[in-house]
Amino acid sequence: MVPELVAKLTELGYEVAVQPGAGLAALYADEGYEEAGAVLDESALADADVVLSVQPLTSQQIRTLREGAATFSFLPTLQSLDLVAELRDLGITAFAMELVPRISRAQSMDALSSQALVAGYRCAIVAAQRLRRFFPLNMTSAGTVPPAEVVVLGAGVAGLQAIATAKRLGAVVKAYDVRAAAAEEIRSMGAAAIELDLDTLEGSGGYAREMSTDRAERQRELLAPYIAAADALITTAAVPGRAAPKLVTAEMVESMKAGSVVVDLAAESGGNVEGSVPGSVVQIGGAQVWGASNVPSQMPGPASKLYAQNLVNIVTLMTGEDGFAPDFDDEIVDGTCVTHAGEVTHQPTAEALEDRE
Ligand code: NAD
Repeated sequence: MVPELVAKLTELGYEVAVQPGAGLAALYADEGYEEAGAVLDESALADADVVLSVQPLTSQQIRTLREGAATFSFLPTLQSLDLVAELRDLGITAFAMELVPRISRAQSMDALSSQALVAGYRCAIVAAQRLRRFFPLNMTSAGTVPPAEVVVLGAGVAGLQAIATAKRLGAVVKAYDVRAAAAEEIRSMGAAAIELDLDTLEGSGGYAREMSTDRAERQRELLAPYIAAADALITTAAVPGRAAPKLVTAEMVESMKAGSVVVDLAAESGGNVEGSVPGSVVQIGGAQVWGASNVPSQMPGPASKLYAQNLVNIVTLMTGEDGFAPDFDDEIVDGTCVTHAGEVTHQPTAEALEDRE
């Protein structure tokens, strides 16, 4: 939560309690929450009807909640099956923000998009800062300095924001994505769409599908010359529920010029670039390879503000005249819910738990 949005919750009829120090890392001081009408309370969990957080609550914290309480957080269910089972057994209603359906009515609640926006911007800034040359063209009396060439792979929410940011800084930007609609979106950001002689790969819900081994190999071959020519490469490709696709081999990075920069936003989920390490910079050939790690937290103020707004919007949807009352017939409520009334309501998670149990 951020102080400026506390009033939105009190207007809905909630009393708001904030964990002391909750906003400090994002530069929101405790006093700001108090001035906005919240109380600071270390032990508020036991009485809470609704708990809002970024990370899921710990097992210990969940056990302090009362039955029927609701939690909203990011909750990577397939990697948190023990926690999901505990939420189910304790009768907690848990909502996972990454499950908000990507329909237009839910756009204001879409935390994946809001955080991808922050991450995409940051990736372009990291590339510009690490590259020891200009992004824009400079024509001076001392001569002309050509602009940097930036290649972006994956043009979803983060990729498009990286393109827009690199363009604003004056770089020449080229981008590639496997989805059919992506070329037009790339061009609308002012970048050139890299056209490869390959089929497009569209999955359900506007997401990409996984590539076959052959197609992956061919895509790497066709992209190799673009990567060799780039001063900065930014990769943001993902396929929901899968490890990040390997788009760039170490050999392709080695073909880049000395001083080149690679920013791998997918480093935490397996990496688009072979050899990238989340949270570290590694040298491959003449290129520095920056592996992303929790990038939204590197711009904590705006990331928190956008996430808090997503939370307020979804809580508002689930609040009636008599308080918190989610309508489970609503597609957004149903789609986002993981556990309710002693059941795991999210089917893929329920199946994964059954397989395990
Ligand atoms: P994402 O994070 O799952 O993936 C990022 C990008 O990587 C995607 O564009 C994907 O096509 C691309 N990709 C996957 N495999 C690739 C490969 N082998 N090579 C190159 N690129 C590859 O995606 P996202 O940013 O969350 O968004 C995906 C789609 O959802 C987009 O079409 C976006 O416009 C749409 N979307 C819709 C809504 C909405 O309607 N509310 C909200 C957000 C996003």
